[in-house]
Amino acid sequence: RQADLQLRLDQPCVSLDGQTVALQLNADLKSEEDSLERQGVAGIGLFRTEALFMSYSQFPTEQQQERFYRQILQQAGTKPVVIRTLDVGGDKPLPYLPLREDNPFLGWRGVRLTLDHPELFLGQLRALIKADQGLGNLQIMVPMVSQLDEIRQCRRLLAQAVQELSEELKVPVRRPPLGIMVEVPAAVFQLSNWRSELDFVSVGSNDLTQYLLAVDRNNAQVGEQYDAFHPAVVSALDMVARQAGSLRFGLCGELASEVPGALLLLALGYRHLSMNANALGVVHYLVRHLDLSTLGPLRLALLSANDGAAVRALLTDCLQQGQ
Ligand code: PEP
Ligand code: MG
Repeated sequence: RQADLQLRLDQPCVSLDGQTVALQLNADLKSEEDSLERQGVAGIGLFRTEALFMSYSQFPTEQQQERFYRQILQQAGTKPVVIRTLDVGGDKPLPYLPLREDNPFLGWRGVRLTLDHPELFLGQLRALIKADQGLGNLQIMVPMVSQLDEIRQCRRLLAQAVQELSEELKVPVRRPPLGIMVEVPAAVFQLSNWRSELDFVSVGSNDLTQYLLAVDRNNAQVGEQYDAFHPAVVSALDMVARQAGSLRFGLCGELASEVPGALLLLALGYRHLSMNANALGVVHYLVRHLDLSTLGPLRLALLSANDGAAVRALLTDCLQQGQ
């Protein structure tokens, strides 16, 4: 059955009512070029760079990073690749950057850490932009943003990297699109004030769930409370969709990799879903068998559900009706 579903990736990902849904891949160091060649896959929606940094015993040089990023961008052919800047801290330690904090998830992680080390951040931005020369499919995404000023600092560093490289390489250098992860609740509430500074946003439902519910995503003791279908998460996801305006918005957390999660997102208006490779076939199948224009009542029902079980039940019922 999986093989059957995968084969359909050769078709464009268009719903019964003719709406295109961009299905993207969450990728890491493994080679995913096979799935990317398929027509129904729109590119890489999340490339985490932590594994690259973890594979060295000290910060990789600009040149080492450039070589690696270029390989990824080339593998994707003409399809866009969203590469996320370094997101260490929290549950992702770097052996050569020991952090000792009482509350690492609320501490020095993601953009907070990289903005405190602009030389590292600038090095990563320069490596990314150089890797994109002559290709033009790079997009840059920043994790853990909670303040407008962080976006502004990132924009300044990106402009600096573009200017430095234009001078050094003596050719005009393309400024890649810049986006952020919406994974700290503050970003959900501030999106309408931030969107003019951004080219796109992508919800990180793994962290957004953790921070909205105050439940550690890796603690089995509270595993049952960690629920991306909690009504507060559903409401936050809906707020993002309503506040985005004309800004491109999508989601790249685990939620898009489960069929009920993908249906939830489609009902809330999401048209960019980034997921694990093994979910692509089945979500592609789902989109091609749905009339997205009829999901308005499902959205309203989801928004008035009182708990995660009720949200799941609504989604499961809808999926069963379609069979
Ligand atoms: C997320 O938080 O949802 C996400 C995609 O990023 P990560 O899992 O790497 O924190
Ligand atoms: Mg995250």
